[in-house]
Amino acid sequence: VIVGMLGGGQLGLMLADAALAMGHEPRCLDPKPDSCARRVCELIVAPFDDPAALDALARDVDLATYEFEQVPAAAVERLSASVPVRPGAESLRVAQDRLLEKRTLRRTRFETAAFEAVDGADDLAAALERLGRPSILKSRFGGYDGKGQVRVVDQAPEDAWAALGGVPAILEAHVPFDRELSLVCVRALGGDVAFFPVVENRHEHGILRVTRAPAPAVAPASEVALQHHARGLLGALDHVGVLTIELFDVGGRLLANEIAPRVHNSGHWTIEGAETSQFTAHLRAITGEPLGPTTLRSPAAMVNLIGEIPGALRTLDRPGLTLHDYGKAPRAGRKVGHATIVDDDPARLEATVAEVESLVRA
Ligand code: AMP
Repeated sequence: VIVGMLGGGQLGLMLADAALAMGHEPRCLDPKPDSCARRVCELIVAPFDDPAALDALARDVDLATYEFEQVPAAAVERLSASVPVRPGAESLRVAQDRLLEKRTLRRTRFETAAFEAVDGADDLAAALERLGRPSILKSRFGGYDGKGQVRVVDQAPEDAWAALGGVPAILEAHVPFDRELSLVCVRALGGDVAFFPVVENRHEHGILRVTRAPAPAVAPASEVALQHHARGLLGALDHVGVLTIELFDVGGRLLANEIAPRVHNSGHWTIEGAETSQFTAHLRAITGEPLGPTTLRSPAAMVNLIGEIPGALRTLDRPGLTLHDYGKAPRAGRKVGHATIVDDDPARLEATVAEVESLVRA
């Protein structure tokens, strides 16, 4: 199967790797000539809204997918006219609009933070009366990784509204969470659904640093309830492929924060730690194959490598440690690789994670 991908970043690279291993032929479209997927597949360098490039991709491939949710809806529409695009336009539309996203999560019975639509400073003043302070003002469109957000502590509503840039927004009550979790799900073309174990994510400055799989101490009943709601959500979107739900854990209550209609950084550990990786599972789903087992092979942790890859990490030899280098030029704040540690011995797993983290911080 020739699989077209919108986006050739590290997710595209790892999808392309998995596609090649399955005997498929990946092709990427990305505006950046140095996109990391270029190392493993043909790359069309053009903006996502370039009609000629989209048509060239559509001519070349049997079906298409995307590796990030900010692809223009028009690009997916144009491709969809000639080839199946999975996941489809509805998953993208919901993931691109924080208001629609929160409403869809509520409709499918997830708990979320209290939220209100805000379209002006007056709306904001009224919403602040109801949700209290601090609250978080988030732009409806275009925000990710903590961008497009303003924490409203004691600012006047007019100032907070101006700080966000005066764009359509939602105000969310501040959630005093204990930790962040995520659930990576996958839905097959025929509607079958599978789940990877819930994982725990630690962020710093809005960027994921460490994922632990499985997340310690998630009540089995909570995980079952979460999976039940997730099935409803995936069905409501008629989603095909991987979808990730980011969650807050507040004293055992799990609140859904947002969805990513794609493979996710918090699922990278599945390459070594699960029976089927999230990338393989995504490709199986979109090509109409059975999903395969998503069970844990071994407890795992993933440490993101941000900015640059420490030299000492390249030569570190520890049981279960695998380094992934995306081949990107070093730059502050940029995800340039990750390290996965799989180990059945919990103490040794933690010791290796600590060692990797200390090299990353040095
Ligand atoms: P988001 O862009 O929605 O993923 O938010 C980025 C990060 O901001 C999250 O990972 C949380 O750490 C934090 N955050 C977002 N929404 C809330 C909220 N309602 N309450 C507390 N923290 C939040």
